[in-house]
Amino acid sequence: MFPRAFHYHRAGSLKEAATMLSQLGPEAKLLAGGQSLIPLMKLRFAGPPHLVDLNFIPGAAYVKQDAGGLRVGALTCHADIEDSPAAAAIPILHDCAAGIADVQIRNRGTIGGSLAEADPSGDWAPVLLTLNADVRCLGPKGERTVPISKFVVDAYTSALGEDELIIEVLIQAPPKSSGGAYIAFKRSAPVYASASAAVRLAMEDGVCRDAAIVLGAVGLTPVRALEAEAALRNNQVTAKTMEAAAEAARAAADPQPDMRGSAEYKRQLVTALVKRGLEVALKRARGEKVELSHIYA
Ligand SMILES: Cc1cc2nc3c(=O)[nH]c(=O)nc-3n(C[C@H](O)[C@H](O)[C@H](O)COP(=O)(O)OP(=O)(O)OC[C@H]3O[C@@H](n4cnc5c(N)ncnc54)[C@H](O)[C@@H]3O)c2cc1C
Repeated sequence: MFPRAFHYHRAGSLKEAATMLSQLGPEAKLLAGGQSLIPLMKLRFAGPPHLVDLNFIPGAAYVKQDAGGLRVGALTCHADIEDSPAAAAIPILHDCAAGIADVQIRNRGTIGGSLAEADPSGDWAPVLLTLNADVRCLGPKGERTVPISKFVVDAYTSALGEDELIIEVLIQAPPKSSGGAYIAFKRSAPVYASASAAVRLAMEDGVCRDAAIVLGAVGLTPVRALEAEAALRNNQVTAKTMEAAAEAARAAADPQPDMRGSAEYKRQLVTALVKRGLEVALKRARGEKVELSHIYA
């Protein structure tokens, strides 16, 4: 189906995009990779009268390393994060970027668009939650930085104001002797996860000093499994503690039955994904190189 007619505006800078948004009103939409917005427009679930295209803004797509960690421009597509040597230093980023949909979508879809969309099954938010990332936003009144834990507020709802855009994602370098992993179960490549798990372990002398476990696609927003984290913190990471964490994560999940499976099936997936993620994160914390890819049914 063709989308409804709309006025097309091309922003020359991030600031100009924010100004255009505030001038065009709340029904105007930003266009990044178009991988969520355009299908919605073609299905006529969305019919914005104005589109502000971000794709011609110079210097808005990058992965840069600095003293504090990584800075990722909002317009950076998943494929560029997948291929980035700077991002490779934090393997969980590669786990995520390389598994999103298929290569065509990874070449167009952006990290900023993905976070703004706040799809409960999106891959980036759970991963960035384990890394305590921050989201830099720009509006007509200036900039503000929102912790990712406060950015996703509900299904398809972010903390962005109507005239704000994401300009950058800030990712702190994880402490030494820490390891992370992200693993999603998908029915095939170009579909969202049935369930996913992002985990991070910070180890010291064989003991887990800090843990983060966040589940995707099993709640209206990513689910932080606090009791699962507590099962690991200040303990050795053994088969028994991993089992306890996976069981606690299962209890924290709040999945809805849908075409991807029953609620019980998704809870079982969570148990398996958390266990597998913890095994890989532990190896990475010990300095081992482990390739991880999503599981396809
Ligand atoms: C078939 C298919 C399968 C997919 N599978 C997955 C998957 O497995 N995992 C996954 O995570 N994603 C998946 N996606 C989504 C895709 O990865 C994109 O990340 C996602 O569509 C949004 O990014 P975009 O750049 O395309 O945003 P757009 O579609 O251009 O925009 C999405 C929304 O965000 C707003 N927006 C865009 N950029 C900004 C910005 N900088 N600041 C503020 N608001 C902004 C837009 O106005 C719009 O409301 C899939 C998409 C398709 C079509």
